[in-house]
Amino acid sequence: MFEKILIANRGEIALRIQRACREMGIKTVVVHSEADREAKYVKLADESVCIGPAPSTLSYLSMPAIISAAEVTDAQAIHPGYGFLSENADFAERVEQSGFVFIGPRAETIRIMGDKVSAKHAMIAAGVPCVPGSEGALPDDPKVIVQTARKVGYPVIIKAAGGGGGRGMRVVHTEAALLNAVTMTKAEAGAAFGNPEVYMEKFLENPRHVEIQILADQHGNAIWLGERDCSMQRRHQKVIEEAPAPGIPRKIIEKIGNRCAEACRKVGYRGAGTFEFLYENGEFFFIEMNTRVQVEHPVTEMITGVDIVQEQIRIAFGEKLRFKQSDIELKGHSIECRINAEDPFKFTPSPGRIATWHTPGGPGIRVDSHAYAGYYVPPHYDSMIGKVISYGATREQAIKRMQIALSEMVVEGIQTNIPLHRELMIDAHFIEGGTNIHYLEHKLADMPDLSKKSK
Ligand code: ADP
Repeated sequence: MFEKILIANRGEIALRIQRACREMGIKTVVVHSEADREAKYVKLADESVCIGPAPSTLSYLSMPAIISAAEVTDAQAIHPGYGFLSENADFAERVEQSGFVFIGPRAETIRIMGDKVSAKHAMIAAGVPCVPGSEGALPDDPKVIVQTARKVGYPVIIKAAGGGGGRGMRVVHTEAALLNAVTMTKAEAGAAFGNPEVYMEKFLENPRHVEIQILADQHGNAIWLGERDCSMQRRHQKVIEEAPAPGIPRKIIEKIGNRCAEACRKVGYRGAGTFEFLYENGEFFFIEMNTRVQVEHPVTEMITGVDIVQEQIRIAFGEKLRFKQSDIELKGHSIECRINAEDPFKFTPSPGRIATWHTPGGPGIRVDSHAYAGYYVPPHYDSMIGKVISYGATREQAIKRMQIALSEMVVEGIQTNIPLHRELMIDAHFIEGGTNIHYLEHKLADMPDLSKKSK
């Protein structure tokens, strides 16, 4: 096994990876920016290297700085976590060219999956059902664009091939608005992702977001670890995730899960990965693949007992998968609430120093967070400061435990979205299960008095 791994990330996932390494007897090196010098996970690591000033372009996105840090500390492998360089094919390539192991898929796979147009092509070829839409990127010819939209049928969604993080998408309801929307999305995509290519999909009106977690080794074995329902979203960003997905017949999920594992074998995928789907009227439609560990991976860990980060490391080292598909049994139910440093109903960021940090506990509660009383939440990065994960024998028990956990949790000094989570955990539709991706936005719009609870 590796003796030393460098963690090229920050926050809760840097701590999560460290814990996996420690359990496996692997030493850790953490890289950090000047703004994260005081972070707990930096102090807990065996070694740490400051790689630059606060802005991520000068630190967490600096490939030479990270590779130099691996060189001076004699790390053997680099775990990229999520976000930052985790889905950057050039980074994966440079890591391997510099003689280190990249804990993730091959650069070539990341490149194909990172471009949503080529990812869809690969999935269609591998027999995975996709959202109907343009075949590949939209051409410049306005006539062809108009014809494509007529064929697909309104409403359509224009999406950036290089998009991510819920950005670079525009819904179009009428032909009159089409060409302008394409031009604007192209311009934005070029500026934000360095790739102006866009494609068109049918805009599904009331889907759920359901994704399949997979693990694949370098020896041609692949399995899937059940699904996650991530429909509770705001601005295409996940707020709550759960596993399994409530109310979807197991037969339908098993079919799509097996398809995903098969697709991994076909494309020679290696590592952990997630196939993201929209689910509507009993059908799954692929939207994208994430070639890394996801924020919401703990809910899968809770119901399968598989440590996804440890398996990523074992796979990267060249080991064979330790599980067969028949070993994977889904047991119980798990829910994750993402805790963000933000106004819970106005959603403005709320960085600053945490005065009080009291986290919940008890049976079936897991808190993945790097925060503590006295910790300064820097304004430079994502606002997520942790995750509360509940587990129960049933969904009802997982919800109940989450309700109790959220009522026990106290964070003072900054604002967090805990009040929103408390509200959602007692929401009749959430409790019933199976809400679609628009539910949260509609709830927020219909209940303007919610914002009064911000205090
Ligand atoms: P990103 O990479 O930015 O996360 P995705 O393609 O995964 O983008 O889409 C993110 C979210 O956008 C989905 O979970 C869903 O809420 C919405 N979305 C994307 N494509 C469609 C579509 N064709 N119809 C309806 N909603 C969509």
